[in-house]
Order: sequence, then structure tokens, then C-alpha cells
Amino acid sequence: MTNIYFDHSATTPVDPSVVEAMLPYLRNRYGNPSSSYRLGQEARQAMENARSQVAALIGAHPDEIFFTSGGTEADNMAILGTAYKQWEKGRHLITTAIEHRAVLEPCKFLRSQGFEVTFLPVDESGMLDPQEVQQAIRKDTILISIMHANNEIGTIQPVEEIGAIAEERGITFHCDAVQSAGRIPVDVNRIKCDLLSISSHKLYGPKGAGCLYLRKGTKIVPLITGGGQERDLRGGTENLPGIVGFGRATELACQVLDQSRWELVFLRDRIIEGISERIPNSILNGHRFQRLPGHVSFSFANVDGKALLSMLDEKGIAASNGSACHSDSPGPSHVLKALGYSDELAKSTLRITLGRDNNDHQVDYLLAILPDMIEALRDISPEFRPEAECPCQDQPSSQN
Ligand code: PLP
Repeated sequence: MTNIYFDHSATTPVDPSVVEAMLPYLRNRYGNPSSSYRLGQEARQAMENARSQVAALIGAHPDEIFFTSGGTEADNMAILGTAYKQWEKGRHLITTAIEHRAVLEPCKFLRSQGFEVTFLPVDESGMLDPQEVQQAIRKDTILISIMHANNEIGTIQPVEEIGAIAEERGITFHCDAVQSAGRIPVDVNRIKCDLLSISSHKLYGPKGAGCLYLRKGTKIVPLITGGGQERDLRGGTENLPGIVGFGRATELACQVLDQSRWELVFLRDRIIEGISERIPNSILNGHRFQRLPGHVSFSFANVDGKALLSMLDEKGIAASNGSACHSDSPGPSHVLKALGYSDELAKSTLRITLGRDNNDHQVDYLLAILPDMIEALRDISPEFRPEAECPCQDQPSSQN
């Protein structure tokens, strides 16, 4: 059977060279980086090498990188850690309605603890207007947290403009770069962020590793305390094989980013144009151009999104409806709801996210089988009347 992986926003395969780099640390180089004898010091050396590799990907200094278990922990650490540090200064946070739940949940938790959170709206393409940020700032605002690129719709936010606003107003700025790091250039000095989250498994590294970038001088309260690892900001014996793999993955990303980015844009645009031409009443979700290179998301009026995924799976294609993190949740996506979609339309979504292992033939195959699948699902949908106006015409969309 064909086996095509089109879900790189959920996770990526581990690159073979990353596996190679990790293997010695799973076999004979098992030292604890905190141990003083040679085995331990070799482990520390490998960890510091990985710290430099990760720092190089985002234009940071190695001392500004703090390893975590992944993107969720980095986001929690940034938001809760800043709030606990600055609560005497103010208790107001600003974020958007379309953040990943790794940001939304700690924000909601803080609200239950007496903080106030402004969840800014986005336009129909998922884009945040920096002026909205400017206007939402209050005297007691202590943190602005805005994602670089959205996992469900691929829209890339104007984080450099937002960072400039935060800097001018003296407010800590956190950027969730989990979807963007390794896919588009991410430079902490251009974004002017104080904190930035990255996850290893989104850039061909292993799961269970990631980091929080913390600009020199930025202070947070640690969430995990214990043995004083990561300069007292994240206790716990480090996941050395994971960190070494993460480091190698970022090194590789630096080498291939420029080329792979444009290859992915090419494949992405073939899919966007192919679907728009072949499938009536299809809506492109997210911004047409300010979007991640390999990211395609469509909603198809009167199509059961879950049934579509099963049909694709039958044909050997792994794709998703939106975020892998809440694929078990029956509710419509909070991101598509924030774009103004009805529950039905939000549930009729197909997300295809491409990676370095995809090619033209796979795109041809998808475009060959998808129109019939959509037609078959519409034929059995009680709602579908081909002669009627597409319900999506009432919906804000960036259809092209
Ligand atoms: N932030 C964004 C934008 C994401 O897409 C994800 C995962 O999909 C996360 C955070 C969480 O990252 P992790 O899976 O490493 O915990």
C-alpha cells in the first residue's frame, strides 16, 4: 500500500543522522551531565554542544537556551514563570484567541488565580493586527504571548512588529515558535522577543525535547525545581539522548532550511491550486501567502472531515483535521471558530502539512484521488445541494 505522510505539523520523522547522533548516548555514553568524572563530563560536553547548535538556529547565545521536555513545557514555563515573577508589577496578559492550547491553558489557569487575560481576535485569514496589541496594552500588562505561525491554518503573524511594540512599552514578549523554527527563519533579535519556545519533534528531532529561549536579563520563576539543573530554572536530570538529537536536528535545519523551504512552497502551492481548481466549494483556511511553506488547510462544505481522513488513510495517506493535540475532541477547532466559521464548516477541514520527505508524485496522487472522495462524501451528506449557494460564501475566507 502507498504510504504517504502528510502530517508534519503534528510531528516529523526523526532524521537518520539525528538517530545516529543519539545512539552513542543511548548505548555507552550514558553519563549524567552533573557527574564530575569523565563519563559525566563527556555528557555535559555533548549537552553544551547541543545548546550551541540550538542557539545558532535562532540567533541566540548558548547561555540563553534552557532545555525542556518540548514545546508545551516551554510555553508553560514562559507564561506561568513570567506571571509568577512579575505579579507584583501587574496582572494583565495579552495573547490571541488562536494560540495553541499549550499557551491558552496556562493563561486560563492564571485567570482563575486573579490575573486578567485579553484574548485578541484575528481577521478571517487568522492574521493579528499589531494595532490591536498596541491598543490592548494597559499599565498593568506584564506579558504579551503571540505565536509565530499557527499549527492549524499556517498563518504567520507579524511578530517583528509586535516585538517592537512590546520593546517600546517595556513589556515581556513571548513567542511560540514551535511551528516555525526549522521551517522559516526565526531570529530572536529581529523578533525582539524575551522568550521563545521550540520543540524538537517538529523539526526532525526526537520527541520529549525542546527549549525555552530566555533573553539575557529576563527573569522567570522556575516551575520544576529540584537538583538545580539548567541553571536553577528547570530541575531534573537532563534527557541527554533527546537533547543531543535536538541539537543535531537544529544543525541540520540550519543547513537545509533555505532549500527545503522553497521546495515546500512549490509543493504547497501545487496542492492549493490543484484543490481550488478541482473541488468546488472549497475554502482555503489561513492566509494565502503569509503561511508556512508546507502548510495546506482546506474546509469543504458538507463534508465530514473525520470520514475524509479515514478514506485517505485507507489509501495510505496520513493527514489531519487540524491540531493533532485535540484530534480526540469532538468539538470544532477553536482556531476556525475564531475565524468566524460555523461548527459544521469547522468540522469539514483537511490539513495537509508537507515535509522534506514529500515529492511531486505524492502530490499528484493526492490530487487524483481527493476530488472523488469529496464528491462521494457530499453525495451522502444530508446537507448537500449542489445547485445551492455554497454556505461558505457567507463565511469569511481567503478562498482563491
Ligand atoms: N505550540 C504549537 C504552536 C504547537 O503546534 C505545538 C504542538 O503541536 C505545541 C506548542 C506543543 O509542542 P509539544 O508537542 O512539543 O509539546
